[in-house]
Amino acid sequence: MKVCLDPGHGGYDSGAVGYGLQEKDITLDICLKLKPLLEYNGISTNLTRDGDYAPGHLEGNLNGELLARVDIAEKNQVDLFVAVHVNSGGGTGEEILVMGLGGRAETAANKVLTYLVQTGAWLNRGVKVQNVLVLKETSMPAILTENGFIDNMDDAVKLKDPSFRLALAVAHARGICDYFGVQYRVGGNDVLEVAVLLFSKEDYWCGADVAAKNGNCAIFVRPLDQSVPKEAMTAKMLIVIGGPTTKHPSEILLSGTNKYDTAAAVAKYLV
Ligand SMILES: [Zn+2]
Repeated sequence: MKVCLDPGHGGYDSGAVGYGLQEKDITLDICLKLKPLLEYNGISTNLTRDGDYAPGHLEGNLNGELLARVDIAEKNQVDLFVAVHVNSGGGTGEEILVMGLGGRAETAANKVLTYLVQTGAWLNRGVKVQNVLVLKETSMPAILTENGFIDNMDDAVKLKDPSFRLALAVAHARGICDYFGVQYRVGGNDVLEVAVLLFSKEDYWCGADVAAKNGNCAIFVRPLDQSVPKEAMTAKMLIVIGGPTTKHPSEILLSGTNKYDTAAAVAKYLV
Protein backbone atom coordinates (compact mmCIF):
# COMPACT_ATOMS: atom_id res chain seq x y z
CA MET A 1 0.00 0.00 0.00
CA LYS A 2 1.47 3.29 -1.14
CA VAL A 3 0.07 6.79 -1.02
CA CYS A 4 1.31 10.03 -2.52
CA LEU A 5 0.37 13.09 -0.46
CA ASP A 6 0.27 16.35 -2.35
CA PRO A 7 0.22 19.48 -0.19
CA GLY A 8 -1.48 22.05 -2.40
CA HIS A 9 0.48 25.08 -3.68
CA GLY A 10 3.90 26.07 -2.21
CA GLY A 11 6.77 28.44 -2.87
CA TYR A 12 5.76 31.18 -5.32
CA ASP A 13 2.13 30.09 -5.05
CA SER A 14 0.53 30.81 -1.67
CA GLY A 15 -2.83 29.41 -2.73
CA ALA A 16 -5.83 31.06 -1.14
CA VAL A 17 -5.29 33.51 1.72
CA GLY A 18 -7.49 34.80 4.52
CA TYR A 19 -7.37 35.87 8.15
CA GLY A 20 -3.57 35.89 8.13
CA LEU A 21 -3.39 32.32 6.82
CA GLN A 22 -1.88 31.05 3.58
CA GLU A 23 -3.24 27.87 2.07
CA LYS A 24 0.24 26.52 1.22
CA ASP A 25 1.27 26.49 4.91
CA ILE A 26 -1.88 24.72 6.09
CA THR A 27 -1.79 22.04 3.39
CA LEU A 28 1.89 21.33 4.12
CA ASP A 29 1.32 21.12 7.87
CA ILE A 30 -1.60 18.69 7.46
CA CYS A 31 0.46 16.48 5.12
CA LEU A 32 3.55 16.53 7.36
CA LYS A 33 1.34 15.43 10.26
CA LEU A 34 -0.43 12.83 8.10
CA LYS A 35 2.63 11.05 6.67
CA PRO A 36 3.83 9.47 9.96
CA LEU A 37 0.27 8.42 10.83
CA LEU A 38 -0.02 6.48 7.57
CA GLU A 39 3.44 4.99 7.95
CA TYR A 40 2.62 3.91 11.50
CA ASN A 41 -0.31 2.03 9.95
CA GLY A 42 1.87 0.29 7.38
CA ILE A 43 1.08 2.55 4.41
CA SER A 44 4.21 3.91 2.76
CA THR A 45 3.91 7.55 1.89
CA ASN A 46 5.57 9.97 -0.51
CA LEU A 47 5.19 13.72 -0.40
CA THR A 48 5.25 15.92 -3.50
CA ARG A 49 6.91 18.59 -1.35
CA ASP A 50 8.16 18.71 2.22
CA GLY A 51 8.81 22.43 2.48
CA ASP A 52 7.77 25.79 1.14
CA TYR A 53 8.71 25.36 -2.51
CA ALA A 54 7.11 24.38 -5.80
CA PRO A 55 7.54 20.66 -6.58
CA GLY A 56 10.40 20.10 -8.99
CA HIS A 57 11.57 23.56 -7.87
CA LEU A 58 9.71 24.87 -10.89
CA GLU A 59 8.90 28.21 -9.27
CA GLY A 60 6.47 30.23 -11.34
CA ASN A 61 5.80 27.38 -13.79
CA LEU A 62 2.31 26.26 -12.76
CA ASN A 63 1.86 23.60 -15.40
CA GLY A 64 5.37 22.25 -14.84
CA GLU A 65 5.14 22.01 -11.07
CA LEU A 66 1.70 20.37 -11.23
CA LEU A 67 3.09 17.77 -13.62
CA ALA A 68 6.06 17.33 -11.25
CA ARG A 69 3.56 16.33 -8.56
CA VAL A 70 2.02 13.76 -10.89
CA ASP A 71 5.51 12.50 -11.77
CA ILE A 72 6.36 11.82 -8.13
CA ALA A 73 3.21 9.72 -7.77
CA GLU A 74 3.88 7.82 -11.00
CA LYS A 75 7.56 7.16 -10.28
CA ASN A 76 6.69 5.76 -6.87
CA GLN A 77 3.84 3.71 -8.36
CA VAL A 78 1.50 4.67 -5.55
CA ASP A 79 -1.97 3.15 -5.14
CA LEU A 80 -3.69 6.37 -4.15
CA PHE A 81 -3.00 10.07 -4.76
CA VAL A 82 -4.31 12.51 -2.15
CA ALA A 83 -4.06 16.24 -2.78
CA VAL A 84 -4.80 18.41 0.25
CA HIS A 85 -6.20 21.92 -0.21
CA VAL A 86 -8.19 24.61 1.55
CA ASN A 87 -11.18 26.18 -0.17
CA SER A 88 -12.02 29.85 -0.60
CA GLY A 89 -14.48 32.13 -2.29
CA GLY A 90 -17.48 32.09 0.02
CA GLY A 91 -18.80 29.04 1.79
CA THR A 92 -17.95 26.74 4.63
CA GLY A 93 -17.25 23.09 5.19
CA GLU A 94 -15.62 20.13 3.58
CA GLU A 95 -15.71 18.67 0.10
CA ILE A 96 -13.63 16.22 -1.90
CA LEU A 97 -12.99 16.46 -5.63
CA VAL A 98 -12.59 13.53 -8.01
CA MET A 99 -12.32 13.33 -11.81
CA GLY A 100 -15.31 11.04 -12.15
CA LEU A 101 -17.83 9.08 -10.12
CA GLY A 102 -18.26 5.34 -9.90
CA GLY A 103 -14.62 4.37 -9.52
CA ARG A 104 -12.15 3.71 -6.74
CA ALA A 105 -11.45 7.42 -6.35
CA GLU A 106 -15.07 8.01 -5.37
CA THR A 107 -14.86 5.13 -2.87
CA ALA A 108 -11.74 6.66 -1.31
CA ALA A 109 -13.32 10.13 -1.31
CA ASN A 110 -16.41 8.90 0.55
CA LYS A 111 -14.30 7.11 3.17
CA VAL A 112 -12.12 10.15 3.84
CA LEU A 113 -15.02 12.62 3.73
CA THR A 114 -16.89 10.76 6.48
CA TYR A 115 -14.06 11.33 8.95
CA LEU A 116 -13.30 14.89 7.84
CA VAL A 117 -16.90 15.98 8.30
CA GLN A 118 -16.98 14.44 11.80
CA THR A 119 -13.73 16.13 12.76
CA GLY A 120 -14.59 19.72 12.04
CA ALA A 121 -18.30 19.32 12.59
CA TRP A 122 -18.04 20.69 9.06
CA LEU A 123 -20.88 21.15 6.66
CA ASN A 124 -20.72 18.13 4.32
CA ARG A 125 -20.46 19.55 0.80
CA GLY A 126 -20.09 16.09 -0.67
CA VAL A 127 -17.92 14.43 -3.31
CA LYS A 128 -17.77 16.57 -6.44
CA VAL A 129 -16.53 16.03 -9.95
CA GLN A 130 -14.06 18.62 -11.14
CA ASN A 131 -11.44 18.64 -13.84
CA VAL A 132 -8.18 19.22 -11.96
CA LEU A 133 -4.81 18.60 -13.56
CA VAL A 134 -3.34 16.44 -10.78
CA LEU A 135 -6.49 14.30 -10.70
CA LYS A 136 -6.65 14.01 -14.47
CA GLU A 137 -3.01 13.19 -15.18
CA THR A 138 -2.47 10.61 -12.42
CA SER A 139 -3.03 7.00 -13.48
CA MET A 140 -4.03 5.79 -10.00
CA PRO A 141 -7.20 6.71 -8.09
CA ALA A 142 -6.83 10.35 -7.04
CA ILE A 143 -8.76 12.63 -4.71
CA LEU A 144 -8.44 16.27 -3.67
CA THR A 145 -9.67 17.28 -0.22
CA GLU A 146 -10.88 20.85 0.37
CA ASN A 147 -10.57 21.46 4.11
CA GLY A 148 -12.79 24.37 5.04
CA PHE A 149 -12.74 27.89 3.62
CA ILE A 150 -9.75 30.05 4.47
CA ASP A 151 -11.79 33.22 3.94
CA ASN A 152 -14.58 32.12 6.26
CA MET A 153 -13.89 33.31 9.80
CA ASP A 154 -15.23 30.22 11.60
CA ASP A 155 -13.27 27.88 9.34
CA ALA A 156 -10.12 30.03 9.57
CA VAL A 157 -10.20 30.00 13.39
CA LYS A 158 -10.24 26.21 13.28
CA LEU A 159 -7.51 25.97 10.64
CA LYS A 160 -5.24 28.30 12.64
CA ASP A 161 -5.15 25.80 15.53
CA PRO A 162 -2.33 23.20 15.17
CA SER A 163 -4.29 20.62 17.17
CA PHE A 164 -7.19 20.99 14.74
CA ARG A 165 -4.81 20.47 11.82
CA LEU A 166 -3.58 17.31 13.55
CA ALA A 167 -7.21 16.20 13.90
CA LEU A 168 -7.64 16.76 10.15
CA ALA A 169 -4.52 14.66 9.52
CA VAL A 170 -5.94 11.89 11.71
CA ALA A 171 -9.25 12.06 9.82
CA HIS A 172 -7.44 11.71 6.48
CA ALA A 173 -5.42 8.80 7.91
CA ARG A 174 -8.52 7.01 9.19
CA GLY A 175 -10.27 7.37 5.84
CA ILE A 176 -7.24 6.21 3.88
CA CYS A 177 -6.84 3.22 6.22
CA ASP A 178 -10.52 2.33 5.68
CA TYR A 179 -9.97 2.51 1.93
CA PHE A 180 -7.11 0.00 2.17
CA GLY A 181 -9.01 -2.19 4.65
CA VAL A 182 -6.49 -1.41 7.38
CA GLN A 183 -7.69 -1.21 10.98
CA TYR A 184 -6.50 2.26 12.07
CA ARG A 185 -4.10 2.19 15.00
CA VAL A 186 -3.71 5.24 17.21
CA GLY A 187 -0.04 6.07 17.60
CA GLY A 188 2.70 7.68 15.60
CA ASN A 189 2.56 11.38 16.30
CA ASP A 190 -1.18 11.68 16.88
CA VAL A 191 -0.74 11.63 20.64
CA LEU A 192 -2.33 14.52 22.46
CA GLU A 193 -0.07 17.14 24.02
CA VAL A 194 -2.32 17.39 27.02
CA ALA A 195 -5.65 15.90 28.05
CA VAL A 196 -8.06 16.26 30.96
CA LEU A 197 -9.52 13.18 32.63
CA LEU A 198 -12.68 13.54 34.72
CA PHE A 199 -13.77 11.14 37.46
CA SER A 200 -17.39 11.59 36.40
CA LYS A 201 -19.56 13.87 34.31
CA GLU A 202 -20.22 15.90 37.46
CA ASP A 203 -16.66 17.21 37.19
CA TYR A 204 -17.35 18.65 33.77
CA TRP A 205 -17.85 22.25 34.89
CA CYS A 206 -14.38 22.52 36.38
CA GLY A 207 -12.88 20.24 33.70
CA ALA A 208 -13.97 22.68 31.01
CA ASP A 209 -12.08 25.52 32.74
CA VAL A 210 -8.94 23.39 33.05
CA ALA A 211 -9.18 22.40 29.38
CA ALA A 212 -9.66 26.07 28.42
CA LYS A 213 -6.46 26.91 30.30
CA ASN A 214 -4.69 24.26 28.19
CA GLY A 215 -5.71 25.43 24.74
CA ASN A 216 -9.12 23.74 24.84
CA CYS A 217 -7.53 20.30 25.04
CA ALA A 218 -9.51 17.08 24.91
CA ILE A 219 -11.60 16.03 27.93
CA PHE A 220 -12.21 12.38 28.81
CA VAL A 221 -14.52 10.88 31.40
CA ARG A 222 -13.55 7.66 33.17
CA PRO A 223 -15.83 4.78 32.30
CA LEU A 224 -17.71 3.12 35.20
CA ASP A 225 -14.99 0.49 35.54
CA GLN A 226 -12.53 3.34 36.29
CA SER A 227 -10.21 2.38 33.45
CA VAL A 228 -8.37 5.21 31.69
CA PRO A 229 -9.17 5.74 27.97
CA LYS A 230 -6.15 4.95 25.82
CA GLU A 231 -5.94 8.38 24.20
CA ALA A 232 -5.82 9.98 27.67
CA MET A 233 -3.13 7.59 28.87
CA THR A 234 -0.96 8.23 25.78
CA ALA A 235 -1.22 12.04 26.09
CA LYS A 236 2.07 13.72 26.89
CA MET A 237 0.54 15.29 29.99
CA LEU A 238 -2.63 14.21 31.78
CA ILE A 239 -4.58 16.40 34.19
CA VAL A 240 -6.73 14.18 36.40
CA ILE A 241 -9.74 15.77 38.08
CA GLY A 242 -11.16 13.68 40.92
CA GLY A 243 -10.55 10.06 41.75
CA PRO A 244 -7.31 8.14 42.21
CA THR A 245 -4.01 8.52 40.37
CA THR A 246 -3.78 6.99 36.90
CA LYS A 247 -0.01 6.44 37.30
CA HIS A 248 0.42 8.43 34.08
CA PRO A 249 4.11 9.46 33.95
CA SER A 250 3.28 13.18 33.61
CA GLU A 251 0.16 13.44 35.69
CA ILE A 252 -1.23 16.50 37.43
CA LEU A 253 -3.62 15.14 40.04
CA LEU A 254 -6.34 17.59 41.10
CA SER A 255 -8.22 15.43 43.50
CA GLY A 256 -9.50 15.53 47.07
CA THR A 257 -11.30 13.23 49.44
CA ASN A 258 -14.66 14.60 48.27
CA LYS A 259 -15.95 16.76 45.43
CA TYR A 260 -15.50 19.96 47.43
CA ASP A 261 -11.82 19.19 48.04
CA THR A 262 -11.46 18.38 44.36
CA ALA A 263 -13.09 21.69 43.41
CA ALA A 264 -10.67 23.50 45.74
CA ALA A 265 -7.69 21.75 44.11
CA VAL A 266 -8.97 22.77 40.67
CA ALA A 267 -9.56 26.37 41.79
CA LYS A 268 -5.96 26.53 43.06
CA TYR A 269 -4.69 25.17 39.73
CA LEU A 270 -6.69 27.74 37.78
CA VAL A 271 -5.33 30.75 39.69
ZN1 LIG B 1 -5.80 25.00 -3.37
